[in-house]
Parts: sequence; structure tokens; C-alpha cells
Amino acid sequence: MLTGANFIGNTKSKLSENGFHAINAKTGENLKDIFYPAVHEEIEQAVEMASKSFFEFQQISQKDRANFLNAIADEIVNLGDDLLQRASIESALPITRFKSERERTVNQLRMFADLLKDGSWVNASIDTALPNREPIPKPDLRKIYTAVGPVVVFGASNFPLAYSTAGGDTASALAAGCPVIVKSHPAHPGTGEMVAGAILLAAQNTNMPEGVFSNLNDSGYAVGTALVTHPKIKAVGFTGSQSGGRALMDMAAKRPEPIPVYAEMGSINPILLLNDALKNRNKEIAKSYAVSLTAGVGQFCTNPGLMIGIQGEYLDKFIKSLVGNIQEVLPAKMLTSGIALAYSNGLEKVLAQKNVTLEGTSNNDGNDLPGRPLVASVRGESFITNPKLSEEIFGPFSLIVKCVDQSELDDVVEQLGGQLTASVIGEEKEVLDYEPIIRKLANKVGRLIFNGVPTGVEVCPSMNHGGMYPATSDAKFTAVGIDAIYRFVRPISYQNWPNHFLPDELKNENPLQISRRVNGKQTKAEI
Ligand code: NAP
Repeated sequence: MLTGANFIGNTKSKLSENGFHAINAKTGENLKDIFYPAVHEEIEQAVEMASKSFFEFQQISQKDRANFLNAIADEIVNLGDDLLQRASIESALPITRFKSERERTVNQLRMFADLLKDGSWVNASIDTALPNREPIPKPDLRKIYTAVGPVVVFGASNFPLAYSTAGGDTASALAAGCPVIVKSHPAHPGTGEMVAGAILLAAQNTNMPEGVFSNLNDSGYAVGTALVTHPKIKAVGFTGSQSGGRALMDMAAKRPEPIPVYAEMGSINPILLLNDALKNRNKEIAKSYAVSLTAGVGQFCTNPGLMIGIQGEYLDKFIKSLVGNIQEVLPAKMLTSGIALAYSNGLEKVLAQKNVTLEGTSNNDGNDLPGRPLVASVRGESFITNPKLSEEIFGPFSLIVKCVDQSELDDVVEQLGGQLTASVIGEEKEVLDYEPIIRKLANKVGRLIFNGVPTGVEVCPSMNHGGMYPATSDAKFTAVGIDAIYRFVRPISYQNWPNHFLPDELKNENPLQISRRVNGKQTKAEI
């Protein structure tokens, strides 16, 4: 039973007089549930509670925090099919998709729980004192990562489970020891409330301090702005548009105390199509790219939005095969009416650009749903001189750039901005011919793929889901995988402290049996 309330710690609150309806993304109609945007008082309460709980939460052992994360995973599973159905209604994505997205969400939480149980992620480093060193004694120094403080998370519209209320940002911030306030995404407020309830139940069952998690509603920018500019908030996690991410970055930078905003803002994920591969595997490549391009109605930050090749017979054949596959894919509903409008405006704008040719779209004329797959092409020269062609069009769209030769291909790559991913489709031998171009590409991206598609972000320690601006706000960090935790911690050195005062991770006896760097050597040994 949904309440439409803001969850401020364990209190359900709806002080606002006006609410907004959740929307059935499949029909466009209002659902009966009304959600109440958080008012000033509720925002203050949530932040105050998060700030108070931080001190206690930060001190809680890694093992107990791991139990909390595992309990969240259990409670999400306990929500059963109701959660999947609600997410499907609010997003127009199929229930089968949410089965795997729930698994991903739960596995992410358990992955961070395992990280905490191991405990070594804190990068404990100990340099023992040399009191007799000349000319001056060396102090005892012990360094560790510690939580930064309350974190605000903006959920993503396109992953109502895995990148939203209990998604990667929330899981990594809680794992780090930071209380979290989620600004619920108005595209799936009911899904958000259900998951928020699961998190709070888990918090109570594992004796976490109240305020460690809150969930606030809004259908506009007021709540998000108040949270990001609140002096007691210490970091922000965001997944969404470049305009939204940039606005939050600017707000955070202008605060008297600037704070980091870890924004994942999507990209066009360039694909380099090399000739031998197109010659040998044309149909196979086209098929896999048609699937990648249209999966989830193209609403992935890793959607292959730009393909670059050298003009000629092989590229033409590839385009024909790709279009053949695309024509078979039915247009579909998109996540929100705003995203659908942005997609249709984006297509209109790109097709109106000089020298852009429509190569093909879905064949189904009887279906005028907005998520219509579409492929267009343009000459390399036109692409290079028109920055509008490098803008992301969020949906099942890809632009194919036809270059006259390798030198023009190099110029196209040169002027690309930062990207989450780039892919190279080629035979192993021909890759050497393109080595400088590929290395240039590597300097712009967070993940470089060989003979694969960019969609499908594996959650594992070696994954980097980041990239140079504007793909993300800070290329030093990943939003996926265990290293995502480092966004919400900072190092602290303890100098000359008595052993009993130090965090367990830094004590002489190494009670947690973690791996530490002691006087330059990695070890689990006692000191
Ligand atoms: P969005 O417009 O960037 O919004 C994401 C969240 O940030 C929402 O909660 C939104 O609040 C908030 N927000 C946006 N701009 C803000 C601002 N200036 N001040 C304060 N809060 C702000 O993303 P979206 O609604 O999910 O989708 C819109 C577009 O984002 C898509 O068309 C696509 O281009 C892009 N997108 C990218 C990704 C990705 O993976 N990087 C994922 C989804 C969407 P309200 O919604 O309450 O206004």
C-alpha cells in the first residue's frame, strides 16, 4: 500500500498541500497514488537527522554495515512481484527486464557487503615511528579512508531499481558509512517508495541509527536544489542528463563549502568500424548492433549512438544490414513523455542538419509509438564541422559517420568529447593499422571494448563505468563496481595516537585481519 509520503527516517510525512500523480508510462494516464513533494521543514528534518546519524553510523563496524546491506537486499526480494509490476507500470519496460534488474540491485548490495566483510578496501597504511631518526624523529603515521558525511542521491529514470533508490550510488554510500537522502525520481515514485520502505525496514532490523536513510519526493527542482546546497550535505550522486548533472555541479561548486557531485551524464559511445571486420562479419556485427541499439528502447547511457567507418562497399553493406535489422524492431513506449519528446525533437533536429541522410527506421507504419529506432548517416567532413551532431539523442538512434580515409577518421575521433565507452570492431591484425587512433580514443573513455557492444555493464571489481567530462563529472571514479565506494570517502592520517584510540583497521594487533601496507609492505601481520 503506497502512502505518497516522504520517508524521513522512520517517520512518514506529507506536509505539502499539493501532490503529484505517478504516471502509468504504458498508457500515459495518471495512477491513483499521489506523492507529496517535501517542503522546507521536511528537507531540514531529513538533513538534520542524516547529519546526527552520521557520527554513529560512521563508527558502526564494517561487519554490521555489511549486515545492513544484506538485509536491504533481503527486504527488496521480499517485496516480491509487486515491486516488479510497479516498476514496469511506471517505466513501460517489461517485467522480465525487472527480474534481471532486481537481481543486479540485490547483487550490488551483497557485493558491497562482501567488500565490507573483507574490510581491506579502506587501504590502511601504517608507517611506524623512528624516534631515533636524525636529524628529526619520524612520527607514527596511520592512514585510512573514512566516510565523508551525508550524501544526496538522485535516482535515474532509466534504471528504477539498479541506479535508483537502492541502486549503486546508495549502496556504495551506505557501504562507505555515509547516511543517504534519496531525491526520488518523479518518473517512478511508487517503485521508489516501495524500495525506500525496504531500506528502512532493514535499517530497523539491523539497529542502524535513525536518519541513516530518507526518501524525499518532488516533481521539480526545488527539493534537489535545497539538498545540494544544504551545508550539512557532503557529496552528491547523480545519474541523468548533462544539463541536470551540470546544474548540480555548478550549484555544488558555488556553495561556501563546495562539495563533489559524482554525475554520470551519459554519452554517445562511439564505435569504430574497421574494414576487414565489416568485410568478414558484416551481418553478424549488424545484428548485434541492432540489438544493442534498440535494447530498453535505446534508453541506456551506453547506447551506441555513433558509428564511424571508412566509406565504401563494406560500410554500405553494413548499413544495409543494420537497417534491415532495425526495420524489424517495433517502435515502443519510452520512459516518460519528457524523454519521448526530447527523443522526437532530437531526431527532428539531427535530420535537419546539413548532409545528414536518413538510412532507415522501423517498418511498422501502424505503430506511432515514440521509441522508433532510427539510423542516419553523415559525411566525416560535416560531422567534424557541426558540433550539434555530437550531442546525445537519448533513445534508439545511431548516427553513422562515413569518412573518406583514415586521416579523416582520425580527425573525427580527435574532436569527440569524453565518453563512457568506445568500441572497436575489427580483426586482430588490422587493429595495428589503427593503433594511434585507438589510443587517442582510449584517452577519452572510461571503457574500451574490442569486438563487442557497449550496452550491458557488468557489475564486477574490474568494471569502470566512468569517463572524461561530459560523460561524468570526475573521470577518476566509477559509478559501478566496488570502487564506486571511493567516491564517498576521504583519507585521514592519525599521527602518534595511542593504540586503543585508533580505528580497529589501524590497531597494532590488526583485529579485523585486513590486508594493510605496513612500512611499505602489504601484509596481514600484527605490528
Ligand atoms: P534529468 O532530467 O537529468 O533528471 C534526473 C534527476 O535530476 C531528476 O530527479 C531531476 O528532477 C533532477 N534534476 C535535473 N535537473 C535538475 C536541476 N537543474 N536542478 C535540480 N534537480 C535537477 O534526467 P531524466 O529525467 O532521467 O531524463 C531526462 C534526460 O536525461 C534523458 O532524455 C536523457 O538525455 C538523460 N538521461 C541520461 C541517463 C544516463 O544514464 N546518464 C539516464 C537517464 C536519462 P525532476 O525530475 O524532479 O525534475
